[in-house]
Amino acid sequence: MSLTVLTHPLIQHKLTILRDTETGVKVFREIVSEIAMLMCYEAMRDLPLEEIEVETPVATARSMTLEGKKLTLAPILRAGLGMVDGVLSLVPSAKVAHIGLYRDHETLQPVTYYCKLPPSIAERDCFLLDPMLATGGTATAAAQFLKDAGARTIKLLSILCAPQGVEKLEREHPEVDVYTCSVDSHLNDLGYIVPGLGDAGDRIFGTG
Ligand code: URA
Repeated sequence: MSLTVLTHPLIQHKLTILRDTETGVKVFREIVSEIAMLMCYEAMRDLPLEEIEVETPVATARSMTLEGKKLTLAPILRAGLGMVDGVLSLVPSAKVAHIGLYRDHETLQPVTYYCKLPPSIAERDCFLLDPMLATGGTATAAAQFLKDAGARTIKLLSILCAPQGVEKLEREHPEVDVYTCSVDSHLNDLGYIVPGLGDAGDRIFGTG
């Protein structure tokens, strides 16, 4: 597995705003979207290109275009939804799968309640979106779901990770590459990432 920690100053600055308990729902939501867009920019660095001819106002140029790969964004409900618009602003033709998994607050185990994938998932490269990789239970289950459906490649974009989550994902899905803005210290007894940013879903949707 490759783990890429995105140290770009703009990303780190925006992450600090997310961590701040004083940041309200509007700004939190906007910044999650902006960070998701910047993370997508990095995670799609290796998309294949092909050369085509294009007429400029001056001459014929040989220039690069995306090879037309089929991309699927797979937000894990509910917090992953907050990352969708930011990524779609860069890849507007991507299909969006929805993966409804929540973490049981007592067992901390993932429970599936809704999953809807686009057709021909087997030809697609998937980008799993979940702002928080905590225990890794949900991301691991979501990756398994996509694999079982035949997804060609899977990359996970998580704004924050806990070391436990990274280890679990690496153990169970070593081929899934992870992009994050920080690997934080640990999980507390309630399963929150420390220092983290709190409950991402509650802060995105104002339900906290
Ligand atoms: N999910 C969250 O939203 N926050 C955490 O800290 C851990 C899991």
